[in-house]
Amino acid sequence: MTTESSLADVYDVEQFRMLGKELIDALADHLGDLQNKKAHKVYPDNAPDEEFQFWKESLGITSEPIQTLKTILQRSQQTQHPKYMGHQTAAPAPISALTGLVTNMINNSTGVYEMGPVSNAMERVITDFTAKKIGYGSSSSGIMTSGGSLANLTALLAARKDKAPHNVWEEGHNKKLAVLVSAEAHYCIDRAARILGLGDKGIIKVPVDSNFKIRTDLLPCYLEKAKADGLHVFCIIGCAGSTATGSYDDLKELSKFSEAHNLWLHVDGAHGGAVVFSEKYRNRAKGIEKADSVAIDFHKMLMTPVLNTALVFKEGNKVYHTFAQRAQYLWDSPETEEWYNSAKRTFECSKPFLSAQVYLILKTHGMGIFEKNVNQLYDSAKTLSELVSEKSSFQLVHEPESNIVNFRYAPHKNMSISELNTLNTDIRKKIVASGNFYIVQTTIADQRTLRCTVMNPLTSKSDFIELLNEIEKQGSFILNKTTLLA
Ligand SMILES: *Cc1c(COP(=O)(O)O)cnc(C)c1O
Repeated sequence: MTTESSLADVYDVEQFRMLGKELIDALADHLGDLQNKKAHKVYPDNAPDEEFQFWKESLGITSEPIQTLKTILQRSQQTQHPKYMGHQTAAPAPISALTGLVTNMINNSTGVYEMGPVSNAMERVITDFTAKKIGYGSSSSGIMTSGGSLANLTALLAARKDKAPHNVWEEGHNKKLAVLVSAEAHYCIDRAARILGLGDKGIIKVPVDSNFKIRTDLLPCYLEKAKADGLHVFCIIGCAGSTATGSYDDLKELSKFSEAHNLWLHVDGAHGGAVVFSEKYRNRAKGIEKADSVAIDFHKMLMTPVLNTALVFKEGNKVYHTFAQRAQYLWDSPETEEWYNSAKRTFECSKPFLSAQVYLILKTHGMGIFEKNVNQLYDSAKTLSELVSEKSSFQLVHEPESNIVNFRYAPHKNMSISELNTLNTDIRKKIVASGNFYIVQTTIADQRTLRCTVMNPLTSKSDFIELLNEIEKQGSFILNKTTLLA
């Protein structure tokens, strides 16, 4: 029987030292096994109830906590595996695991300077650095926040404060407000707009063209229609890029339109805003520097663990008014611009020490490391799309503009859309269950696609070749079985 700890035991230094050394070795072994594709499924594919039972039954004191941590390693989604090509989550730079040890130990909560002197200072360094890469001038400034969803919500609040005809923050709603956004925008934009109280009518979804970009030619008529319906549009949101296909909206056109109509332009660059770090690919987001605000997730293309987002404003002072409020115990005057009390500008009060993650990656691996990563991932996706195009039994759904590639297995010309949808869904299930790869699916214009996001710079061309071969194998196996049964 293991005995319960005293509170003094909890803080025992030598136990910490011993466990820590053991853990680092376990983590390094695990990472090595994944990189060498040894013995690990990319995704363990346990059913939710099974996983719940496992952890429920295993709760209780142990003398070997490292064993429990190893079990977490084994049973998790392996984002460090080169054959992980699923959702847009980084294969974090291993230095970030070490950074996390330190930030978790010091537990500086960032919101006010005295609770996070280093974190507030570093946050300014990182957001200034990002602002410069965006192409913003000296009046810009930004904040870091827990995720793109929260960053987008914060940006829409700032937009409303700046552009709405009355002060909703103080007076509540008395005129119907609306935002314009691409039909392909991430669902968190819709959610943010609803949280702002805009309702169904206040979220105006503009159709996209054949390249999944917002139809800028339709904007004047959508704006006119909104006015005729008694809505005041205050903001337009550009995707850089969109979630399903990674397509970039024409930000230059959006900025012209927003300037002409006195709208706030927010760029949701949660995923693809990272191109600002790349000379080769930054033209994908041409015009981004004209936006009033830009959100970029470091935890997608930029190698940090979740969640880690920069929200940068062209006119940095505007965001201070967004959350204008008295909090006597934290700061004296709500309106003064104190960059070092970051809670003045964020929804979050306590906030993790996010900037250290970005800072340490740059410090350890060089200021060009983000550029290398973005270029590698975008180049890789191009390679995958070329391999798909070369195979007559596959259909490429779009030329990739980023590291997202959608395609489907379609071996016979006479298959209906619903047959193809079922076939591709079944193929994905088999692939995921095998544990050999992890890929996801989506639906574009009612058609199911297999969706790969190349997130790991160690993923190679041979991994793609193997993936496509396996899809073909599973696909023809499923088709043969169905023919036999029919
Ligand atoms: C991932 C993503 C989001 C949501 O960001 P989180 O950091 O997951 O909250 C929003 N927009 C786009 C385009 C995204 O790719």
